[in-house]
Amino acid sequence: MADKYDVIVIGAGPGGMTAALYASRANLKVAMLDRGVYGGNMNNTAEIENYPGFKTIMGPDLSEEMYQSATNFGAEFVYGNVEKIEVLDEKTKLVKTDSGELEAPVVIIATGSESRKLGVPGEEQYGGRGVSYCAVCDGAFYKNRDVVVIGGGDSAVEEGMYLANLTSSVNVVHRRDSLRAQKILQERAFKNDKIKFTWDTVVEEIQGDEQKVTGVKAKNVKTGEMTTIPADGVFIYVGSIPMTAPFQDLGITDDKGWIVTNDKMETSIPGIYAIGDVRQKTLRQITTAVGDGGIAVQEAFNYIESHK
Ligand code: NAP
Repeated sequence: MADKYDVIVIGAGPGGMTAALYASRANLKVAMLDRGVYGGNMNNTAEIENYPGFKTIMGPDLSEEMYQSATNFGAEFVYGNVEKIEVLDEKTKLVKTDSGELEAPVVIIATGSESRKLGVPGEEQYGGRGVSYCAVCDGAFYKNRDVVVIGGGDSAVEEGMYLANLTSSVNVVHRRDSLRAQKILQERAFKNDKIKFTWDTVVEEIQGDEQKVTGVKAKNVKTGEMTTIPADGVFIYVGSIPMTAPFQDLGITDDKGWIVTNDKMETSIPGIYAIGDVRQKTLRQITTAVGDGGIAVQEAFNYIESHK
């Protein structure tokens, strides 16, 4: 027998935790599912300074605050890895996890995204032995050492600055001659003496001595020149991919796997909503995930009322 709820929120990142807060505060019975620790990608972020109300706050601290808000009105945190959603009828969606089944008229998908792999030789081999996707998690291993950061977006620049506080040097290797990151982050990074930029350059291989990373083999895309950049650590920030594998058969994703919704967060399946980074959208931020969560619950509440 499946455990019965009014709303099942899949994913306990900022969007999911906001949805859980709004739904439980509206007196709905809520399960907030996650396969890991609550907080999502927020936990991998050092300092957050564009979430209103906090001049600056560490990612894990904001996660904890949001979790307290989410569970304050009775939302239940349920541990489990979602394998599938089955739509039995308009009032019944069955969520199958590796640890049991849950049932509700409304499901809100808030599974977010994960780091995209670079896909070069050495990346897998040296995973956890010099290759990392999380400066907050692994930065401390590189105190007074030299690291390479690959990418030119907000994550590469922000986490590059975090690493610059710990390491001897940070070399940001970017495939173009200008950054994608927000201007305010760019300006700060350019002023940081410990950060160097290697432009128009792609990493073709992560090299090591069998035990650990020793550097990267890189190519200048304008001149074709090959170089070896010595490094003790390589932090890869080349974007993200949606975590939508369990939902592929529902036909609610675009060709890249992001979930398509309207501005009410409705997917093409009545009673299934998607919020936060997992949506096809232009701005993936904590603030936008939080906003999505509130909107989805407003619609979900009306859906439940009209299907009583
Ligand atoms: P992103 O914005 O997609 O940037 C990915 C970067 O990696 C781009 O510079 C891209 O180069 C480069 N790249 C992609 N594929 C590559 C490849 N195969 N080889 C080399 N370089 C490659 O990803 P992100 O920085 O992880 O950010 C994800 C989202 O989170 C964004 O919406 C971002 O705004 C948001 N975010 C916000 C904050 C904040 O507000 N403080 C912090 C972190 C993340 P090109 O530029 O040439 O495409």
